[in-house]
Amino acid sequence: MSNHEWTGQATCASSDPDLWFSPDPSDVAKAKEICTGCPVRRQCAERAAEFEGNLSHSYRHGVWAAQDTHERAAQRKGRHERSRRAAQIRDAILAHPDVPADIAAKRANCSVDHVYRVRRLHAAELATATDMAVAA
Ligand code: SF4
Repeated sequence: MSNHEWTGQATCASSDPDLWFSPDPSDVAKAKEICTGCPVRRQCAERAAEFEGNLSHSYRHGVWAAQDTHERAAQRKGRHERSRRAAQIRDAILAHPDVPADIAAKRANCSVDHVYRVRRLHAAELATATDMAVAA
């Protein structure tokens, strides 16, 4: 399915649209229940994330993919935090490529397997840095 073709399969297309934008908690609960069985829930969640970006919950509207404004904002914030933490760990590992993996794991507060994974993923980058250090 490309672009917005999926909207043709949206369960909400044949329901009362006011349910998804109602301030009444029982309407919100009904909308979420309908969303739960929707065949395009994943696409809907992706569209909401793309459309709303990093907006706080007060700038979000309605229920999308069985999530209200608070739930979507919290999910986005959680993703942002996980991504920031992953970048910190990666940087800590790459800053000291020559220390043994178990020590790097302790310093970065991650598993030894993760150290090996990051070093493997960034092997070319590390090799270039080493070459430049040798040449200097
Ligand atoms: S998941 Fe999205 S497309 Fe499906 S019913 Fe809910 S709001 Fe509509």
